[in-house]
Amino acid sequence: MGDESGVRDDWSLPDGLVAELEGLQLHQLREVVHYAQGRIRELQAPLSDKIEAAPGEEILATEERPEYTEVIKSEPCGEECSDCPHGPYLYHVYEEVKPDGRTSLHWVFLGRVFSRHD
Ligand SMILES: [Zn+2]
Repeated sequence: MGDESGVRDDWSLPDGLVAELEGLQLHQLREVVHYAQGRIRELQAPLSDKIEAAPGEEILATEERPEYTEVIKSEPCGEECSDCPHGPYLYHVYEEVKPDGRTSLHWVFLGRVFSRHD
């Protein structure tokens, strides 16, 4: 807490909102971040619109969840074996927002999906 006026003046947020945020506890701020990320996802085009199959891949399913997009896809091993493509595999895809406002997709591999039919 320096004494250089405390509040940054380059926010484009309403003063009242900034003052309110400054008064929050850490756990409340985390909830604000969580809430804002959910709102950003609601307002943006669905992440599944940005997910494209790479060469040799096949996207079998996508489903929007509150915090991530679930993707099931099969993919080649890179050696073009007779079993290619492999999977299907389940991923959770998150959109990360960089400080400059650009976004990138973050893929988290969760594992093989086994069909309920076999
Ligand atoms: Zn293969």
